[in-house]
Amino acid sequence: MVDQDTGEYITDLVGVFDLLEKDNTGNIVVVDHKTAAKKPSDSDLDQNLQFSCYGYATRILQELDDRDILLRIDCLVKNKKPVFEQRYTVRTPDNDRKLVKLASDVLNAMDTGVFLPITGWQCGTCQVSSHC
Ligand code: SF4
Repeated sequence: MVDQDTGEYITDLVGVFDLLEKDNTGNIVVVDHKTAAKKPSDSDLDQNLQFSCYGYATRILQELDDRDILLRIDCLVKNKKPVFEQRYTVRTPDNDRKLVKLASDVLNAMDTGVFLPITGWQCGTCQVSSHC
């Protein structure tokens, strides 16, 4: 990750896409496969950090410059009768800037010994839970 304004290297961003598709106009669509207990809301999708990382990485890897990045969640909602939910969100260059700033702020906080636990479903498999 690089600060677009200063060119400063922030950190490596490492991950795996579930699926990259092209729509009928040739634009890339980043697809993530999920199971969930309830339908994701629009704000869940618009603020989802994992999607922001996918959007940022796609812009860099596919050299999409200032274009909006289209992302889709293909989600199996675990109701009594399972429901398949397909929803879209976008990431803009402004989302990228916010993501990089967040990463930079978190790294700076860690460097100065600030640790703010954010508990949730992820705690069960956390490899640094001894810091909490
Ligand atoms: S256990 Fe891990 S994931 Fe949960 S709050 Fe602590 S550091 Fe964060």
